Amino acid sequence: MSDLEKVFKVIDGYRDEIIQFQADLTSRVALGPENEGTGEHDKAVYLMKRLEELKPDFLKEIKAPDERAREGYRPNLVAKWEAGNTGSTVWVLSHMDVVPPGDLSLWDSDPYQIKVDDDKIIGRGVEDNQHGIISSYLALKAIKGTEIALGRAVGLVIVADEETGSKYGLDYLLKRHRDFFKHDDLIIVPDGGNDQGTMIEVAEKSMLWLKFTVTGQQCHASTPEKGKNSLYGAAKLILELGKLKDEFGLTDELYSPPSSTFEPTKMEANIPNINTIPGRDVFHIDCRILPDYHVDDILAAAEQIAARVAKELDLSILVEPVYRQEAATPTPASSPVVEVLARAIKAVKGLEAKPMGIGGGTVAAFFRQAGLPAAVWMTMPNTPHQPNEYCLIQNIISDAKVLACLYLDQYGMDHTGEDK
Ligand SMILES: [Zn+2]
Repeated sequence: MSDLEKVFKVIDGYRDEIIQFQADLTSRVALGPENEGTGEHDKAVYLMKRLEELKPDFLKEIKAPDERAREGYRPNLVAKWEAGNTGSTVWVLSHMDVVPPGDLSLWDSDPYQIKVDDDKIIGRGVEDNQHGIISSYLALKAIKGTEIALGRAVGLVIVADEETGSKYGLDYLLKRHRDFFKHDDLIIVPDGGNDQGTMIEVAEKSMLWLKFTVTGQQCHASTPEKGKNSLYGAAKLILELGKLKDEFGLTDELYSPPSSTFEPTKMEANIPNINTIPGRDVFHIDCRILPDYHVDDILAAAEQIAARVAKELDLSILVEPVYRQEAATPTPASSPVVEVLARAIKAVKGLEAKPMGIGGGTVAAFFRQAGLPAAVWMTMPNTPHQPNEYCLIQNIISDAKVLACLYLDQYGMDHTGEDK
């Protein structure tokens, strides 16, 4: 039996271990203060213990001070296992924090107690991003258990605050410990992908979130002539903003979807009763913009549209950017991380993976901005942030095998199981 086959056999036996790991992580709720939580402390304590079990050569908890969190900081864990050579390190970065479950009536089970249904594990965080934590960890555990030497050094980074901006997570880590990472290291972020595991994300669009406040004049619904209905303004403006799609209509087939997107999303409540004409409406749009365009140009165009609608309906409209991030330089499609990932995916799944761009934004942007080529990859049905979020056990197993190929630097078996 080859080294890879031995390791794959161990990974194939991890079903119960995956279920237990998911149960342990899901019940340690890690919500950031912006999401009315106290941070990632419980999950970090648990994960430190799990990392220690694999006897890393280096293990450090990097504490990003945050008064709002329990213990006054947000935990970021970095563990490293050296190989017998001085070549590049393969880093896998996952995040501990989760998003709130949202409307509980849409869940069929308790979001924080996993439910297992055949190959499915259901619970908040199981996919985003515990899948990544578990597959990267178990790949290493399987290798350690078989006592086969690592082919390259392996680093696991498990960060806080990914869901609410990364200021206390990867951004903090890179500002203080950029030296952990070398330019030729292989950096993988298992926090996005497709259901085949064939998408290697190398580029992201720029992001712009805009808030529109439409102000008119509130009055009784039976006498509309005495007021100015702000909801007409909001409705008209939402439709007019759809024209941004034509004005910024370039497409690039590297990205999925290939064009920029401008979607109305959050609408704030206006009045609680039906018989009042609203005098104030607030809504937001979420823009994902191809790097061909400047974020400032989109903002200016949106302001122009708003000014026109305001004039037409005699309302006032305020446009405010609430979040913006210019796209980072893409990871080259020819970079080593893309190449070895594609080889490993071919070896494990027998499928051709290809580099692609997405709407963004993942934490990989922080690596790219720091000049470190990173690839986002995992095998996932697309359920993050949804009610009844789930992951598939078989995906965690196959992703652990792909990562094991990278840890061992061996790709010598195709999906038929034959040695090559
Ligand atoms: Zn995530």
